[in-house]
Amino acid sequence: MNFLKDELIFVPLGGAGEIGMNVNLYHYKSDWLMIDLGISFSDETTPGVDIILPDIRFAEEQKVNLRGIILSHAHEDHFGAIPYLWDKLQVPIYGTAFTLALLRRKLAEAKLPEKIPLHEIKYNVDYNFGALTVEFVALSHSIPDPAALIIKTDKGQILHTGDWKLDETPMLGGKTDVARLKQIGDEGVIALIGDSTNAMVAGRTPSEAVARKGLTDVIANAQQTVAITCFASNVARIDSIVAAAKANNRHVCVVGRALHRAISAARDTGYLKDLPDFVSEADAGLMPRENLVIICTGSQGEARAALAKIANGMHENIKLNSGDTVIYSSRQIPGNENAIAKVQNQLLRQKIKIVTDEDAPVHVSGHPARDELIDLYNLVRPKIAIPVHGTARHLEAHAKLAVSCQVSQTLIPENGDVIKFSSSNANKVDSIQVSQFTHESGNVVDLQSDMLRSRRQMLWNGSVSVSILLDQMGGLMQAPAVSQDGVCIIEEESDYLADISMLVDTQMEKANTKILIDDSAIETMLIGKVKSATKSRFRIRPKVHMHVIRIAG
Ligand SMILES: [Zn+2]
Repeated sequence: MNFLKDELIFVPLGGAGEIGMNVNLYHYKSDWLMIDLGISFSDETTPGVDIILPDIRFAEEQKVNLRGIILSHAHEDHFGAIPYLWDKLQVPIYGTAFTLALLRRKLAEAKLPEKIPLHEIKYNVDYNFGALTVEFVALSHSIPDPAALIIKTDKGQILHTGDWKLDETPMLGGKTDVARLKQIGDEGVIALIGDSTNAMVAGRTPSEAVARKGLTDVIANAQQTVAITCFASNVARIDSIVAAAKANNRHVCVVGRALHRAISAARDTGYLKDLPDFVSEADAGLMPRENLVIICTGSQGEARAALAKIANGMHENIKLNSGDTVIYSSRQIPGNENAIAKVQNQLLRQKIKIVTDEDAPVHVSGHPARDELIDLYNLVRPKIAIPVHGTARHLEAHAKLAVSCQVSQTLIPENGDVIKFSSSNANKVDSIQVSQFTHESGNVVDLQSDMLRSRRQMLWNGSVSVSILLDQMGGLMQAPAVSQDGVCIIEEESDYLADISMLVDTQMEKANTKILIDDSAIETMLIGKVKSATKSRFRIRPKVHMHVIRIAG
């Protein structure tokens, strides 16, 4: 991409056309910067895989000119890939105090060496990365210390919003710095590249104060123990839950490692300073049941998190009883619905009451709804809008809204697009092929690798194993041995295996000498025959394993 070496360029490697896995590259005059390095979580299309990692091979190619990774905030979809992928880039990481405090704890738990250089960034200060200068602007979101980035060059400036909302009463942390956003609008902004999560939601996202009141009211009406699950990093929500418990004369017990990690990072960076002492897990069972609120991890149905263990009675300290209440103070991340429903069904069978944000205002989003987006466009007045952080439908809705705000150009990007800016417009000039990866026993593995394709094929189609024993000329020395897993029901198994054995026998009889002396030619021929016979019988294409054993002499 030598022809672009002096140009101002934006390349989203993740997060464009999807919610999750945000990775963005900016370039100017040979200097590159990476904004965020997030993960996604797997769904039913990626069985056997926990997390999905972005494809950063293009960034690796630019490594010598990559000046750093700047983290907009500490959500997994913005910084979760650092423990897996930093080693491939080995550049300094920059972020606000809370972002780095949480990252340090995650890196320590992953037993990663302390060699990763972390640098704290303050709001409204210019930091130079070669030809690119970055200023952080304060926002409100569902985590402490989030930032929008002003990317400044001698060609003009770009606002990269990160995740944000306008919250007049965020309850913890600062408000969105509306004055600075207006000021940069006055200075002139080439492009706004921003959050589309709630671009299809009318009105304004309610304030954290609404969730705090909702939680207080639900707890007031509960007769027995209340367990509340939320995202661990939502420190304002933890503060709201503690305040709601206090208003109802209840003590709080915190359950789940990620919550303790977030609370410790928050305290280290000046938040949650005057919390009451928590009840320990061991003492929770000794408390009067009507005087207890439990905050626990597991809002997404994660099998290893506290709530799933509590629901199936496997938690060593915490038990819920009939008549208790579980509040989901969180949204369902798309793809997690089934896992969440499984936990909720277990709770309901024990006559435990469930309250979600559909029943009461116990959760508010951290992202801007349409009226807030309109406010932002009126403040910043960019020439170009580039919606990111959303699926195609979100990006489309965001782009249309930007047009209604008199933005003269909108450009909907896809991951891998190379977008070049002039001082007044943006054009897609190239695109990079991007894949998706995962982490498998210490290795970063392509989701399209042979190993993971085989795993998916076996899961969806089953597998057949055929072993044949041959003499030197390719004659069968005994009947082929065949077995199957997940291909047919037990009543049909012996018929099916006998037919496959016969098929292999017949094909070996028919094969010419050229094939019979070549093990791999035999394998290829028989795999094809077994697959098509199985497909015409059961309409599935199983993974076929062939073992050719040739007896010497
Ligand atoms: Zn976020």
